[in-house]
Amino acid sequence: MTATPVCPSCGNDNTYPDGDLLICAECGHEWEPGAGVGNLEDTVRIVRDANGSVLADGDSVVLVKDLKVKGASSPLKMGTRIKNIRIVDGDHEIDCKTDLGPMLLKAEFLKKV
Ligand SMILES: [Zn+2]
Repeated sequence: MTATPVCPSCGNDNTYPDGDLLICAECGHEWEPGAGVGNLEDTVRIVRDANGSVLADGDSVVLVKDLKVKGASSPLKMGTRIKNIRIVDGDHEIDCKTDLGPMLLKAEFLKKV
C-alpha cells in the first residue's frame, strides 16, 4: 500500500480519504490529493503516452486514434497534432487545446512527438 499522505496544513499523517478528498483527522483540513496545495506541488504524477514515453507539461503530441467528441459533429482525427499539453489529475490526464476547443484527453490515445 502507499504511504498515508501528509496533511498540507499541519503536517500530520493521520489522514484518511473521503471520496475525492483527503481529510486530516488532526486539524480537520480537507484537500484534493495532487491539487498542488502549497509546497506539495512537486508531487507530479507520471503520465505515459501510448508508447510508454513520459509526458510533461508543454509537450506536443499526436492522436493515435480517432476520438469521438461529445457535442461535436466530427471526431478528433488520428494524427491530429496538439501542442503545449498540460498534465492534470483525473481519469483524463491531458489538458489541451484542440481544433475543436479545450479538451481533456487520455494519455493512452496520444503519442509524444
Ligand atoms: Zn492537518
